Amino acid sequence: MLGLMQSQQLLISTLIDFAERHHGEGEVISRRVEGDIHRTNYKEVAARSRKVANALDGLNLAFSDRVATLAWNGYRHLELYFGVSGSGRVLHTLNPRLHPDQIVWIANHAEDQVLCFDMSFLPIVQAVHSRCTTIKHFIALCDADKLPADSGIPGLQSYEAWIGQQPATYTWPEFDENSASSMCYTSGTTGNPKAALYSHRSTILHAFSGALPDALNMSARDAVLPVVPMFHVNAWGLPYSAAMTGAKLVFPGPAMDGKSIFELIEAEKVSFAAGVPTVWQMMLGHMQAGGLRFSTLKRTVIGGSACPPAMITAFYDVYGVEVLHAWGMTEMSPLGTVCTLKNKHLAMDSADKMKVRLKQGRGIYGVDMKIVDGEGAELPWDGKAYGDLLVKGPWVISEYFKGEGGSPLVDGWFPTGDVATIDSDGFMQITDRSKDVIKSGGEWISSIDVENIAMAHPAVAMAACIGMKHPKWDERPIIAVVKKPGSEVTRDELIAFYDGKTAKWQVPDDVVFVEAIPLGGTGKMQKTKLRELLKDYKLPGA
Ligand code: ADP
Repeated sequence: MLGLMQSQQLLISTLIDFAERHHGEGEVISRRVEGDIHRTNYKEVAARSRKVANALDGLNLAFSDRVATLAWNGYRHLELYFGVSGSGRVLHTLNPRLHPDQIVWIANHAEDQVLCFDMSFLPIVQAVHSRCTTIKHFIALCDADKLPADSGIPGLQSYEAWIGQQPATYTWPEFDENSASSMCYTSGTTGNPKAALYSHRSTILHAFSGALPDALNMSARDAVLPVVPMFHVNAWGLPYSAAMTGAKLVFPGPAMDGKSIFELIEAEKVSFAAGVPTVWQMMLGHMQAGGLRFSTLKRTVIGGSACPPAMITAFYDVYGVEVLHAWGMTEMSPLGTVCTLKNKHLAMDSADKMKVRLKQGRGIYGVDMKIVDGEGAELPWDGKAYGDLLVKGPWVISEYFKGEGGSPLVDGWFPTGDVATIDSDGFMQITDRSKDVIKSGGEWISSIDVENIAMAHPAVAMAACIGMKHPKWDERPIIAVVKKPGSEVTRDELIAFYDGKTAKWQVPDDVVFVEAIPLGGTGKMQKTKLRELLKDYKLPGA
């Protein structure tokens, strides 16, 4: 017997319809490439999304055709999120931080038909457009009078002129909720990039679960600042969860430096912000230097790479801001776990609470996890046994776009490439990326643990631990360190700093001071590049 409930496909267009009707005045604020602060609301975003849909129909784009963006976080990008997916096309967010050759490869692989780009990326588009063989239409996200006369890009139009003539009325099509809605290529640290192809259903379910109190806890009373880019994994689904809850959205545009982010948080009374650790590192540096304080920020979700304990402590103890340590990946839309405490933890003293908060967190509803040994046998949830982490759920990929790389699943589970422990309360802790784990004398050393200790030293701005070949121990850890401007620390002082904080054999053998640690397109440390930079390095005594 079937239930007697109305059946409605879970489509992304329903999010913006809802936001318009129930939160029409809900603000959407953007720092623009033009330099100013732009103010709009869900009602206007909804109307302009419908204009986008009409404009796409005008280009005769078919269902599931790909519309690419090369854009910062901002209201026009948001309108494309809803207008492109809502009208049945697939939004393909390109990462502007990638090498132009990679952008060409990805755009051709995705068979993008349209490219909408912020003017800051005009030079990239000028460099690549002739090699992007499937793109027929180029749209610059600007007013008509900002369009350069001689861009060299055939048929270039301004977004405002393109949608300006379109009616704001449009009936969103109804179709199967399993249809593709957006796509994002993984960073491709090994081999060619591969795309996760999200569906309307997976996106809506992810937005529901992401907004829950024990996940990101989003509501109509929040002002949300996604510093995480809309060009990578849909800014962790925040634009969708915000429309679902009516939260105010505040977009940083191109200004990601500590000062600009801090000023935007203060000016727009941001209550909740999301970003990778490197972004917060810059902001905390700016705040420390100026003795600044937040007046409205209540919580921040930090993920994408391990959040150093020193950062969690600074947010809690110095600034009174709750840190939600979160973990996920492109293939998971991306949310997998969020670290929110259970009732039993509340009575703990702050040191014990911190031990829990350092973990990557509990699975949110919809994501199941397990850890397995080398033979694939499941390991216990005791907080000690570590093994390969596998996941499954309705917003985890079943395969990559065009079947690239074959079937990634093992008995229906997606192997994350991370090594982790899970404790009896279900809190998962990443030990390492499996390719970054350091194998020393038959034991494993977590590069994250080694980095976290160095990052707690007051003179250290950033630290990356990698394994170096060793004749006796197979590998030994060394740590590459960027010093804070104006701060000093010697190799021996830093090695001594590890005393009592970890087992002796886990202390790095050496410290290498560097100007900068190579960061990838999504702000993560690129250890492969670091290994290349240090290829002539010799371990002491090796
Ligand atoms: P990529 O495209 O490089 O896979 P993702 O953004 O999908 O980029 O990154 C996913 C990976 O990032 C995870 O598998 C994990 O190794 C790492 N990661 C994400 N969040 C965390 C975290 N909170 N702590 C440690 N590692 C993390």
